[in-house]
Amino acid sequence: MDLLTTLVDKGLRRELPTRDEALAVLATSDDELMDVVAAAGRVRRQWFGRRVKLNYLVNLKSGLCPEDCSYCSQRLGSTADILKYTWLKPDDAAAAARAGVAGGAKRVCLVASGRGPTDRDVDRVSRTIAAIKGQNEDVEVCACLGLLSEGQAERLRTAGADAYNHNLNTSESTYGDITTTHTYADRVDTVRQAQSAGMSACSGLIAGMGETDADLVDVVFSLRELDPDSVPVNFLIPFEGTPLAKEWNLTPQRCLRILAMVRFVCPDVEVRLAGGREVHLRTMQPLALHLVNSIFLGDYLTSEGQAGQADLDMIADAGFEVEGADTTTLPRHRAAGAAGCGSHEGGCGGHDGGCGAHEDGAGPCAAPAAEAGPAAAVPTETLPAETLPADAGPVPAQPVGADAAGAAGSARTDLVAVRRRGAGTDLPPNA
Ligand code: SF4
Repeated sequence: MDLLTTLVDKGLRRELPTRDEALAVLATSDDELMDVVAAAGRVRRQWFGRRVKLNYLVNLKSGLCPEDCSYCSQRLGSTADILKYTWLKPDDAAAAARAGVAGGAKRVCLVASGRGPTDRDVDRVSRTIAAIKGQNEDVEVCACLGLLSEGQAERLRTAGADAYNHNLNTSESTYGDITTTHTYADRVDTVRQAQSAGMSACSGLIAGMGETDADLVDVVFSLRELDPDSVPVNFLIPFEGTPLAKEWNLTPQRCLRILAMVRFVCPDVEVRLAGGREVHLRTMQPLALHLVNSIFLGDYLTSEGQAGQADLDMIADAGFEVEGADTTTLPRHRAAGAAGCGSHEGGCGGHDGGCGAHEDGAGPCAAPAAEAGPAAAVPTETLPAETLPADAGPVPAQPVGADAAGAAGSARTDLVAVRRRGAGTDLPPNA
């Protein structure tokens, strides 16, 4: 295929594809899919070899958010039966982080629900970063706290945060259909603040919210322009109790095409397979390792992932290797850049960050609900559930990609399980 030859050549040179080429990747047929994966895999191996970076999420504050992001189980008016708790104490958060690092994670992503942190919240997170670095100075810490106010990025950087995550999520033109309480421009501004403060920026997207192929290409091209060091790609987990609960638009094939397109557009960036992989890729997850060079280990913010050991087994069985703490994640030309490093060798500690998951609607799960175990006690304050209306705003456009047809009726609600273990519970974390 001439298209794939062109895209590989451009990817190896870090040259931006055209929009038409990116759209053409999303429009490829199932017969062409393995060729697409193989081509994007060549680009992945050029910049990241066969390494897979593991990241571990710690949800510092869960639920009860005043914002209305339609995809998020923690949003205003969400009736999803998620854990709700206020800030974890630094030692409790550090204990959760320790489990992830013991499981092979080299980055810990500290996430808190809410529009953005107060200065007091930044103090709390600073103490948490100190507790985590105090037990392992090599671990990379990424903060994901929402929109930042002036000076907060610098304070987090001074406290030891290596990276900051804030996703663009979807195209600028459809952002208002997904969220009304803040703007796309607000999000871009926070990513830029993180970069200006010397943190490695992590910013990505959520696919499967009813967006068109053009929307997907728009947001990925915007990310390329913003130039984060890492790009998490989430696939919507249609949580019951959220406005997007009925949006089951993805197939494993479409997920692979999306990941390949992101790799071609952002060839030398850490592309992270984030929330929703178990739900939407299902048995095709190992193929995605040929496209991404980073995944989350274990559970997500409010939903369960497959067992951490299953993640490790999948990586080994597919012929990949877990990236060690002594390895620089990003290619040398990018790691040496001023905006971030991709490794703790570069001074900033590397980054990739993110969670892709401040917005947790994206947190997937694989474990059937019956395996989720009993509901755990919430050790920190449990606040009352909100009773505000779940107004999703306008209904997003229907997808027009190659897989749009046939997605209807393929809802797999059996694959969505609310997280009941790990941080904020009495049960051990999944790592
Ligand atoms: S994505 Fe973040 S800001 Fe939006 S509703 Fe969820 S927790 Fe709140």
